[in-house]
Amino acid sequence: MTLNNPSACAQPLIRRIATEEAFTIPEVVVALRDVIQAPGQSLDLEVLRRVYGASLDSRSGLLSALLDLEDGRVRDMDENGVAMHLLSLTYPGVQLFDADTATDLAILANDRLAETIRRHPNRYAGLASFAPQSPLRAAKEMERAINRLKLNGFIVNSHTNNEYLDNRKYWPILEAAEALEACVYLHPRAPSDGMAGPFRDYGLDNATWGFGIETGTHAVRLILSGVLDRFPKLKLCLGHMGEGVHFWLYRIDLMQARAQSWGIVPKLQMKPSEYFVRNFVITTCGQEDHLALDYSIKKLGVANVLWSIDYPFQSTAAAVSFVDTAPISDVDRAAIYHINAERVFHIGT
Ligand code: MN
Repeated sequence: MTLNNPSACAQPLIRRIATEEAFTIPEVVVALRDVIQAPGQSLDLEVLRRVYGASLDSRSGLLSALLDLEDGRVRDMDENGVAMHLLSLTYPGVQLFDADTATDLAILANDRLAETIRRHPNRYAGLASFAPQSPLRAAKEMERAINRLKLNGFIVNSHTNNEYLDNRKYWPILEAAEALEACVYLHPRAPSDGMAGPFRDYGLDNATWGFGIETGTHAVRLILSGVLDRFPKLKLCLGHMGEGVHFWLYRIDLMQARAQSWGIVPKLQMKPSEYFVRNFVITTCGQEDHLALDYSIKKLGVANVLWSIDYPFQSTAAAVSFVDTAPISDVDRAAIYHINAERVFHIGT
């Protein structure tokens, strides 16, 4: 297996495991096309119509890259010295479909993912999808995905029908993830209907700003709701340098303590920042800013920082160069590139 390209020969041989790497399957593309063409005003539909609509129709490079789990993807990995993609079904996953369609397509996508990993066990690992629309069936599929398909964790694209995972109806999902010791990657989608208004202008609805606000809000809800006292071993992963949540921990601790003393919010066993360090890991994912990386390592500990590319939406070369040139020790670099991913996502060494 080629781990480094010739231009990277000066670098020590290092196993680079990228942890937020998107794929799709034709059946999901077809179902998504139906949803996009149906009437509806949600921000996700607007984003999908604008950003993906054209590419889904024209079979542009983006769609081909998402569908390709063989030559083109492996070539991109080889050319950039990437050992492994931790694959996940691309945004918005199955969460825009009705419950039955979503459940069926999650099962199908997980089966395809497992087949692909069996063909390339040294190059791919995978995060399973599930349909939150039907929490009990989701929990069943989560169990199958880990125990039978041997997948490495889960992905969920933030809210589902404008509801968040702290809602008691979704607890079977949190319970399953905790019991299976499988990390849930909380991937972005556009802000839910209740906060959509201000995000409709200036392209704020997508990865520029809205995705991070939506997903960061989801993470803070999980902390402040107290569900992490109910599921203390639950592991969650945030991309895009933690969606910025850890830059806010000081203030969240301060204001939450005040609200708690007034008895107007749930009583928590620990400070919000302590849950973030205990229950969350973050990935770099297209937030290639060395100052932000430095702060993240110092604030959360290097063991909580993982590497990702966001292939095919972001440049592999830029993601590799970002960590290769980061002013950090080689011990920290190895932790970010592969040791943390191996531990959190149960990837064989
Ligand atoms: Mn992504």
